[in-house]
Amino acid sequence: MLDEQKSGLIEELKDTGITDEAVLQALLAIPRESFVPDFFKSRSYENTALPIANGQTLSQPYIVALMTQALETHKRAKVLEVGTGSGYQAAILSRLCRRVYTIERHSELLKLAEKRFMELRLHNVTTLYGDGYRGWKEQAPFDRIIVTAAPPEKPERLFDQLAIDGVMVLPMGAQKSTQELYQIRRTQRRFEEKCLGGVRFVPMVQGVPDEDDGGVFGLF
Ligand code: SAH
Repeated sequence: MLDEQKSGLIEELKDTGITDEAVLQALLAIPRESFVPDFFKSRSYENTALPIANGQTLSQPYIVALMTQALETHKRAKVLEVGTGSGYQAAILSRLCRRVYTIERHSELLKLAEKRFMELRLHNVTTLYGDGYRGWKEQAPFDRIIVTAAPPEKPERLFDQLAIDGVMVLPMGAQKSTQELYQIRRTQRRFEEKCLGGVRFVPMVQGVPDEDDGGVFGLF
């Protein structure tokens, strides 16, 4: 049943402009149901965002595919993700690049994501609990950076940690109604920006929570 829904979703993604075969193959290979709370498992291959713990969301498959395609990653790339969430986006990236470094500010979410990476034997994903605004200085520069929560304005330190010739994909905007997705390309001299259209992400929040309260969906 899920398999049929999965191939239906892949067809839908092709029809809506996802043409990168490697990205489509990664979406086929990674079981999205492993990243979805039990209550929503039957909806794993609907083209919709789904709630995870701590009031956060697992992005819509179309957005995951669009961002991954825009990242133009490759087998030798070192990639930083800010906002591990369920771990789904990192799992997709793990199929397409050499190593994924992923940062999350909710420890409970990160623990669940780490368990999934282990179970699926995704050994090229490395995690960090902390504030993604700081990036990951010890591992910088990164060939690719993807941000899956929306900062209100340019996160300067992440721009600094992007390699020359690197690509970053991130939503930006203070409110959900005004967020836009950007593809940033760093050249020798400057950062070139391309806007990919309106999106709705949870906000990128400064610092880490005082203590994880588990949120509304804490029991999943
Ligand atoms: N990539 C995720 C989507 C998660 S939603 C997935 O595939 O499921 C965005 C995530 O960004 C949330 O888990 C939220 O806690 C996290 N986040 C928000 N601000 C952050 C910050 N400053 N540093 C690290 N993670 C952050």
